[in-house]
Order: sequence, then C-alpha cells, then structure tokens
Amino acid sequence: MPELPEVEVTMQEISPLLMGATIEGVWSSGKDLREPIGPGVMALVGARVLRVSRRAKFIVVETSQGILLMHLGMSGHMRMPGRGEERERHDHFELQLKDRHSLRLNDTRRFGLVRYFRDLGELGAYPAFAALGPEPLGEGFTPRTLHAALRRRHLPIKQAIMDSKVVVGVGNIYASESLFAARLDPRRPASSLTPIECGRLCAAIKRILAEAIRNNGTTFDSFSDALGDIGHYVEQLRVYGRRGRACPNCGRAIESVTLGGRSTFFCPACQR
Ligand SMILES: [Zn+2]
Repeated sequence: MPELPEVEVTMQEISPLLMGATIEGVWSSGKDLREPIGPGVMALVGARVLRVSRRAKFIVVETSQGILLMHLGMSGHMRMPGRGEERERHDHFELQLKDRHSLRLNDTRRFGLVRYFRDLGELGAYPAFAALGPEPLGEGFTPRTLHAALRRRHLPIKQAIMDSKVVVGVGNIYASESLFAARLDPRRPASSLTPIECGRLCAAIKRILAEAIRNNGTTFDSFSDALGDIGHYVEQLRVYGRRGRACPNCGRAIESVTLGGRSTFFCPACQR
C-alpha cells in the first residue's frame, strides 16, 4: 500500500508535468473507486494547473477552475503516457494535457479516490481532510505537539502514532521503523512517554520518512512510482518484516507482536 513517502515521491514526479499545463480533457473508466468519480471533474476541462501539493496521503491539484483531490488507496499508481498510448487494464482516470503527456491513475483494487472541489474552502470542509493532524515533515509537528497529543492516549504508542489525528502519514512500516530508531517499545502506553522520549520519537519519524522519500519509498507489492521505478527503501528496513533475524544494533532476534490488528516488529533489548 502506498504510504506517505510513496505519495510524496509520486507528487514530486507528476508536479513538473502538471505545473502550468492546460487540462484539455478528462477521462474516467466509469467504474467506481472508493466512491464514484463524480461528473464534477468535467469542470476541470480548460483549466490551468496552478499548484500541486501533498497533504497526508492526498495529492492536491489546484487549478484555475477548482481543485482535484486524488488518493492512491491500496494499489493506485500514476503514469505519464504519451499521446495516443493505449490505456491499460485498471486505468480509471486520466487528465489529458495540452501539448504534454497525460496523467493516468491505474488502480487494481479501486480503493483510490478522485474528487472535485470548487475551492479550498470546500476542500477544507471535506471530513476526511478536515480531521487531519499535523504533517510529520512540517514545522507544526514538534516534540511539544507530539507530547500534548499523546498525554491522554493510553493505547500502545505504535497505534497512537498511526492515528492521523496525532500525526498524518505514519503507516505500519514506518511506525515500527521509527520506534526502533527512537529506542521505544511499541507496546508502551502512549501516555507514558516523557517529553525527552517524545523528542526522540519526533526526530525519528522525521528522519525515517525523509530517508524513505530519498530512497523512492518502499515497495512491497504493487507500488511503483510514476516513472515506473520501484522503491529502494525496502533494503534499509531495520526491523519491519525481520522477525527472528538479528537486530542491526545488538544482534538479538527481532520479535513481532500484533497491535491494533497490525504486525509490529521490535528489538526486545534495544527498545524500552
Ligand atoms: Zn537490539
């Protein structure tokens, strides 16, 4: 499943194609994704792209005629095919750009999202968007805000940092990796973290996500970025998926537990 680094990589790759482009046509397969692709997207025909950004795992395309919000869901990826290039199976949405390649969303499992908003106000009121916590790589995510968010949460810290109200975009892989980097036991109650431990965790989340972005994200099953490359971060995972193998710090066997229904990996010696 694409996590934040994969979405950031995708956004950075499609941005040069989209910036300043005029949208000549909009095509959809007619199949529902997470929800139907509404007829509202047709309002984008003739629009000029002004800004491309990422918020949590959403890609936000601001144009002169409204905003396009896209989400890759479980299996989505973007391609930039040339004019006349045939569509592939599971292509569900396409922006045709004047004098440029097109942008296509391919989504095998169809949990992605394509949605039109008239303006930023309407987007801000969209419930899935309005409830989002701070961006992990942004200035709004600090040891202090993290400590404040965790103080009253008694569930395991691993689950707490995967809650998008605490911080957005820390998925299952990066939660395990960040807690290992911060030397914190994923099973500890979130409320038990001291301000100093929150400082370590905040720094670890930022570092791990930035590293993953530099390495083009992590590929497990279906993710490939918009240029067709696969992510390389998988080679750098220290605990995730490594149960029984040696901890890269101390050599003891990595253990795994299930927290909130998700596999969690940690070193019982290094993480307290
Ligand atoms: Zn260890």
